[in-house]
Amino acid sequence: MTQIFFDPQQHYDCLQCGRGCRAGWDIPVEPEVVARVQTLPVRSDAFRQTYACPRHPQEVPGEAGKCPRCHLDAVHQVFIRNSKDSPNCSFLDPDQLCSIHRELGYEAKPATCKLFPFVLTQTPDGVYAGTTYYCTATRQNHGRPSSAHIDDLRHQLAHQAPVNKVAADGLVVYGRYYISYRDYQGLEAELTRRAARRGYLETLSLATLGLGCLMAELPDLEEEIVAIGERLPEMWNHPAFPYGSPVARLQELSRSQLADYFMFSLEKSLWPEVESGLNQGTAFSLPHFNWRGTFGDLEKLVDDRFNSKIERYLEHLVWRKALVVHPLLLPSLCQLQMLPTFLKVQAGLLAHLRNHEVTEQDYYDALENAETYLVTHGRNRRIIHEWAADILLGTLRG
Ligand code: SF4
Repeated sequence: MTQIFFDPQQHYDCLQCGRGCRAGWDIPVEPEVVARVQTLPVRSDAFRQTYACPRHPQEVPGEAGKCPRCHLDAVHQVFIRNSKDSPNCSFLDPDQLCSIHRELGYEAKPATCKLFPFVLTQTPDGVYAGTTYYCTATRQNHGRPSSAHIDDLRHQLAHQAPVNKVAADGLVVYGRYYISYRDYQGLEAELTRRAARRGYLETLSLATLGLGCLMAELPDLEEEIVAIGERLPEMWNHPAFPYGSPVARLQELSRSQLADYFMFSLEKSLWPEVESGLNQGTAFSLPHFNWRGTFGDLEKLVDDRFNSKIERYLEHLVWRKALVVHPLLLPSLCQLQMLPTFLKVQAGLLAHLRNHEVTEQDYYDALENAETYLVTHGRNRRIIHEWAADILLGTLRG
């Protein structure tokens, strides 16, 4: 029987707030769910169909055909369509309850909805049952220990639950360099041990710089792939490690990641102003926050009161294998090390928009943005953090 691991510090019982059903996500729907739901008097536009490449989902052929990049056959997918005038799921009733659940029962729902807020990751040792902090109950650590849901998760695993997979070998660090899962476990154990003394904020920065130093001295490879698991321990005391606090050394990198994130959230006409803000220290505008200033001004908005909540969030992400569940270890480290800056700046901008001092609600709303755009449901995740790894290596190589 598959072993399922639970974060011993994580609690969860649903508060029925409906938050996850108002997020505007693309919820995939299995064919049997479509058949069941069509027995209901639903609107004819409740579902949206598309064809996409399984390897390059951004390359959408639009209809049955081949991916223009890798020539794999496009896969037919059906998604729930959101309401026309809001990000709400079409099946969310005004009382915040799901109409599929109400009319046809829990089992009739799409597999993604049944699993939420759990995030399952299959590793060579078993399945890690993490959670998304988009969920109100999860981030408030509300309810019974998450392990209380083991029977339900076993049932879901046997019935099409979506599962992330971490391979036993071939985990790419960057470029054509890879490690095994056992090598990664050694890295994670050292990271966790150091974080227990110095905290995740500091330790993730140290790990990012250390791994960056190790990768920066390796040549770019054209064809062969090379295992570097045995060299991983060097990252913690690398002779090329830049002088000074790792957090301060990575401030510039976090600024450029923020700039990339802002550009994704702004109209293209405003991008040059953000780029000048990053490169020349000039003022730029974020109209959606009613804010204008320099990156230096942005950092003055930062409030450290939520550091312990951020520590807990980072600890859970590392525990649930967020560093290796999506390809490329170095960009994933870049992602996690910049998250505290992202959360604090976002919370500060929201407080500015709302014309008050930073509150817990501002922090939670910032966390929602982090989960939506960068982490669990990260629409812009991969590209922003791969750019960050390129910039880091470029800087370290001089
Ligand atoms: S967001 Fe979490 S607490 Fe709210 S309804 Fe969904 S699962 Fe329940």
